[in-house]
Amino acid sequence: MKGLGIDIGGTNTKIVVINGRGRLLHEERFHTLGESGGYGDFMNRLTGCVRRLNKIWRPGSVGIGAAGDVDPQKGLIRFSPNLEKWRYAPITGPLNKLTGVPCTLENDANMAAWGAYELELKKKYANVLAVTLGTGIGGGLILDGRLYHGATGSAGEIGHNKIKPGGERCHCGAQGCLEACCGSYAIMRDARKAIKNAGAFVRKYAAPGRERLNTICLTRAADRGHKTALRIWREMGENLGRGLADAILLFNPDCVMLTGGVSRASRHFLGPLKKVFAAQQIKTPFQKVRLRVAKNADLGVFGAALFGMERVNNRQRRR
Ligand SMILES: [Zn+2]
Repeated sequence: MKGLGIDIGGTNTKIVVINGRGRLLHEERFHTLGESGGYGDFMNRLTGCVRRLNKIWRPGSVGIGAAGDVDPQKGLIRFSPNLEKWRYAPITGPLNKLTGVPCTLENDANMAAWGAYELELKKKYANVLAVTLGTGIGGGLILDGRLYHGATGSAGEIGHNKIKPGGERCHCGAQGCLEACCGSYAIMRDARKAIKNAGAFVRKYAAPGRERLNTICLTRAADRGHKTALRIWREMGENLGRGLADAILLFNPDCVMLTGGVSRASRHFLGPLKKVFAAQQIKTPFQKVRLRVAKNADLGVFGAALFGMERVNNRQRRR
């Protein structure tokens, strides 16, 4: 069996076709919002892609992950901060009509969690917390080998745990969220404040051809021992450690998998994060938990494809 995976992000929509072992057969992407930014225009482009890929690959399932507040039962996006004009936008219905195969829709961080569980960890651990570190921070939970949705589909939203009362403003509107300390926009806000001569800093540390002050530039500066860059990553690690500690006490996972672009700087923030774990009073869950950084940079879209296939296989097994 082959599976189609779709990841609807605020910027890009990624599509993959994989086989039953998670091997990539095909991939493509397009800008989610296009020119109009509207849902109708997006669905026209998405259904065009899916119609074409369905003819070529004949997938047995379509699994979709989307950023934002998602209704997995009805297969619609209730609201997404980066897709502001969309409200209660149906996704699985039109795709199911088009392909005739079962379609699932889940929150994108939940699909990254499924990707971590099945692809990276080969289902070796039953309890996994996956945390996506990007512009924002998302989270997904696998508990006893099953994706945990919660009552409305938003379980695991660790990014909006309040870790600093009265702290910096978060994109969600609240203050002091984990994301407002450790999301890339927060890291770069701190960097812009702390780095005196940003122009010279960028000239010295930016990757060739990408001359901007971003987390890659900040990581390269830390690699070369820049004190301010090292301090920013250390503080990020301490804050992330505090946010994760709450989740570890609550769920006692076997493994925490970090993924997303910012996880590429883990060599600078994992040490401080582990110190926060070591200082916890309730020792066992922190001694046992395995901290991993995902190898696959696209866990969300692979996880979506694998999750769609899992659903179909489970249905067949029950028959
Ligand atoms: Zn928030």
